[in-house]
Amino acid sequence: MQKPILYIVIPCYNEEAVLPITSGMFLEKLKQLTAQEKISPDSRILFVNDGSRDKTWEIICDLAKADEHFLGIAQSRNRGHQAAVLAGLMEAKERCDITISIDCDGQDDINAMDKMVDEYLSGSEVVYGVRSKRDTDTFFKRFTAEGFYKLLAAMGVEVVFNHADYRLISSRVLKEFANFKEVNLYLRGMIPLVGFKSSSVYYERHERLAGESHYPLRKMLALAFNGITSLSVKPIRMVFFTGFIIMCLSFVGIIWAVVAALMGKSVAGWASLACIVCFMGGVQCLFLGVIGEYIGKIYLEVKARPRYIISERTWDEEET
Ligand code: UDP
Ligand code: MG
Repeated sequence: MQKPILYIVIPCYNEEAVLPITSGMFLEKLKQLTAQEKISPDSRILFVNDGSRDKTWEIICDLAKADEHFLGIAQSRNRGHQAAVLAGLMEAKERCDITISIDCDGQDDINAMDKMVDEYLSGSEVVYGVRSKRDTDTFFKRFTAEGFYKLLAAMGVEVVFNHADYRLISSRVLKEFANFKEVNLYLRGMIPLVGFKSSSVYYERHERLAGESHYPLRKMLALAFNGITSLSVKPIRMVFFTGFIIMCLSFVGIIWAVVAALMGKSVAGWASLACIVCFMGGVQCLFLGVIGEYIGKIYLEVKARPRYIISERTWDEEET
């Protein structure tokens, strides 16, 4: 069997501090896998510059000049991690047999790639990198992240527990995935929808080697929220059921009020009435908000704007 061509896809946003350290590690891993005859010598490392404002793109261009194993593409502006990964995967899919997406900060253990490639060679088309423990996370991050995976599962979204965006995907799966046209991206929830044989490998996640995280709580919450609303309509259904329960309770309340009035026991129920009115006002606003969220999503989807725009490549497109 011919050895598969591997493309390691690495999104980079303002990573000038960490790229000089990790680029060498990735190259070494690629050479090691090639030497073990697991992958083809045509395998490459593909950096995706996500509109960095520092020297990241210059570093990528220098790397590409210095070693043919390094390639780079640049997005026309910052579009976020998910779009950067997607751009890299879509760019790679015509040129390789398998891709592995990984962050550039050295947090994910690159040695898990060996097992990922082994899993591919034994028949898996998608291999999820799963964090075996979260020792390096703060209690808050661990608690919120694990709680979120459970919430997603409760919402009916199929996700692999404790898996982020470190995974191997075959180009065959990517070609099918290219037909998923949505602009609201939540890759870890979308890839399982494509199907095909999949498996998981476990690894330990370390601290960032240098630089700092670009995922503040605000961005994390936005991604989490997007994950739910992009992949599940359960919140709308819950709105419906809550409305239904409130309606039933109100019905009982109305009967009680009528009976009490008929029996001449009606009280001056101003306070209870005011409470109910306020409560209902709140509930309605909340529910309109949930529905509005979905309408907003539809609005963004129908516009079907491009999900990424590649402005530069380290290679000449006509040549290839
Ligand atoms: N990243 C990106 N675009 C962004 C933010 C982040 O391409 O707008 C990249 C970043 O360079 C890194 C990966 O996404 O390779 C994960 O980001 P980070 O390490 O900051 O997140 P954390 O690991 O702290 O969740
Ligand atoms: Mg990181």
